[in-house]
Amino acid sequence: MDCLFCKIISGEIPSHKIYEDEFVYAFLDIYPCSEGHTIILPKEHIPRYTNMEETDSASLFKAVNKVAKVVERTLNVPGLNIGINNGEVAGQSVPHVHVHIIPRRENDNGGS
Ligand code: 5GP
Repeated sequence: MDCLFCKIISGEIPSHKIYEDEFVYAFLDIYPCSEGHTIILPKEHIPRYTNMEETDSASLFKAVNKVAKVVERTLNVPGLNIGINNGEVAGQSVPHVHVHIIPRRENDNGGS
């Protein structure tokens, strides 16, 4: 499978892993919008969020809930942006569904 994120999950491309279980893998974004910007995704290659079955979406978001709490607590930030770009026109650049967890800080200028 010629997919960047599948290669990250398999270890073929190195990443800074944050969390992993049987269903998901989470790692730091290489071009972070803010310190601690994390990406979490299903290990199964599913191109976009709207391709997901409800049960797979539920498993993904169960892990998002867990990882978001850890990121917030570990970095001691007052908030997070949690989101998905679904489709190229919506800004999705890697066609393997993934959720962004972006730490936000007071007066951080939009996380950039
Ligand atoms: P999208 O634009 O598809 O919603 O998000 C893709 C994200 O993947 C971007 O934030 C981008 O910085 C990140 N990304 C792209 N290539 C790599 C890589 O090789 N390693 C890591 N860790 N993140 C990447």
